[in-house]
Amino acid sequence: MNPGSTPAGRPDVLVVGGGIGGLSAALALGRQGLRVRVLERAKEFGEVGAGLQIAPNCTRILAEYGLLEEARALGVVPQNMVMRDALDSRELTRLDLRDLERRYGFPYMVIHRSDLHGIFLRACARAGVELLTDHTVSGYDNTAEGALIRLADGSAQEAPLVIAADGLHSVARRRLVGDAVVSSGYVAYRAAVPIEQVRDNGIAEKDVTVYIGPRCHFVQYALRGGDMFNQVAVFESPKARAGRADWGTPDELDAAFEATCDTVRKGIPLMWRDRWWQMLDRDPVATWVHGRIALLGDAAHPPLQYMAQGAIMAIEDGWVLARHYARQAGAACAESGPDWQAALTAYEAVRTEHCRRVQTTARAWGELWHLDGERRLRRNAIMRARDTYDYSFTDWVYGPTALTPAEEPPMFTPIPL
Ligand SMILES: Cc1cc2nc3c(=O)[nH]c(=O)nc-3n(C[C@H](O)[C@H](O)[C@H](O)COP(=O)(O)OP(=O)(O)OC[C@H]3O[C@@H](n4cnc5c(N)ncnc54)[C@H](O)[C@@H]3O)c2cc1C
Repeated sequence: MNPGSTPAGRPDVLVVGGGIGGLSAALALGRQGLRVRVLERAKEFGEVGAGLQIAPNCTRILAEYGLLEEARALGVVPQNMVMRDALDSRELTRLDLRDLERRYGFPYMVIHRSDLHGIFLRACARAGVELLTDHTVSGYDNTAEGALIRLADGSAQEAPLVIAADGLHSVARRRLVGDAVVSSGYVAYRAAVPIEQVRDNGIAEKDVTVYIGPRCHFVQYALRGGDMFNQVAVFESPKARAGRADWGTPDELDAAFEATCDTVRKGIPLMWRDRWWQMLDRDPVATWVHGRIALLGDAAHPPLQYMAQGAIMAIEDGWVLARHYARQAGAACAESGPDWQAALTAYEAVRTEHCRRVQTTARAWGELWHLDGERRLRRNAIMRARDTYDYSFTDWVYGPTALTPAEEPPMFTPIPL
C-alpha cells in the first residue's frame, strides 16, 4: 500500500527525482528528522554515465554526512589537475591537488557517478527515507497546507514541501518557469574502460588531465581505486551549427579530434559510440521557490559541465536547505511548527546567485577552452604565466558553501585576452 494514501503516512517532504540531487536533498532533510519520500520515474534507482569530479565544496559536505571515507574507498584522490593544449600537448597550467586539499581542508576527488549515487541511496535507506521507483510525476499545485503532486497513474500526493529535483528536462520547471533549454551545439562522449586498455596511450594515471583545443576538449582520469580509466570527449558539432536535428553522431567525433595530439587521438576509439550527451543548459533564473514547491539541482540550474560543479551544486542545495530548515525548527514554537517559507526564502536568496555565477562561468570557460588561432595562443600564454599556487580562480567555488548572500565570497577577476 502506498503510505501517501493514509494521513498517518503523510510525509513532511516529497522529493521528485532520485538522481544525485534528489537523493542528497532527501538525505539532508531526513537527517533533520523529517519524513521524506522520494519518487523516481525509472524502474530502478541508478545513474547513467561514467566519472564525476567532486571538489572540496562537495567533499566537505560528504564529510559532514559521514560519507567521505566510503567515497574515498570507492573513488580516487588524484595528485594534480593538469591542463594541456590538445594540439601540441604542452602543459598550460596545473593545480597541485594535495596542496589544494591543505588549503580547503577537504580532498578533490573523482568517483564513478553510480558509486556516488549508491552512497546516497544507501545513506537515505539508513536515514529512513522512503524510496519509491516507477512513480512518474506529471503535475504540481500549491495547496492551503503545502503542495500537491499529480502522478501519471492519476493519483496525487501532498506534503508541506515538494522538492522538484527532476533534472534538466524538469516537468516542474516547465510548469513553473516555462523557459526552454539552451543548446551549446557541443556534444560529449564518455567512456570508462579497464586501466590496462590505456596504459600504453601516454596517459597520466595519477592526474586529472584536461586537453583543451579548437572547438574540442578531452578529459582523462582514473576511477575505482585506479582500476578503471574515465575519458570524456567534447566537441562542437558541425551538424548542430547547420541546424540539423541528428547532431553529435560518431562520424563527427572522429573528425573533431583528427588534428589533436597522440594521447588524445589514441583515446578516441575507446569512447562509447552507442550514446552521447548533447550539451544543453538553461539561462539562470532568480526564482526557484513557487509557494511550497522548490526547484533543486539541474531542474533549478543546469550548467554546461565545464566547471564540473553540476552534481556538486545539487548536493550543496540540499545541504543549504536543510541548514535553514534546522534554524527555523530550532526557533519554532510547538503550535505553529517550523517556518518552511522562511527556510525556502533563505535557500533561494543564497543559492540562485551562487549557481548563476557557476552557470555563467561554465559558459565562459567553454569559450576559453575552445579558442582557435591567435586567441588560442594568447590564452595559452596567460595560462602558462599562472602560478600553480594562485587560488584566486578557485576560492569563490571550492571554499565553504555559503548559507547567506553575505557569506558568498567575491568572484575572481577575469583576465581579458
Ligand atoms: C558529460 C558530463 C560530465 C559531468 N561532469 C560533472 C562533474 O565532474 N562534476 C559534477 O559535479 N557534475 C558533473 N556533471 C553534471 C551532473 O551530472 C549533473 O549536474 C547532475 O547529475 C544533476 O543531478 P540531478 O539529480 O539534479 O538531475 P538528474 O541526474 O537528471 O536526475 C533527475 C532524476 O529525476 C528523475 N525524473 C525526471 N523526471 C521525472 C518525473 N517526471 N517524475 C519522477 N522522476 C523524474 C530522472 O529519472 C532522474 O533520476 C556532468 C554532466 C555531464 C553531462
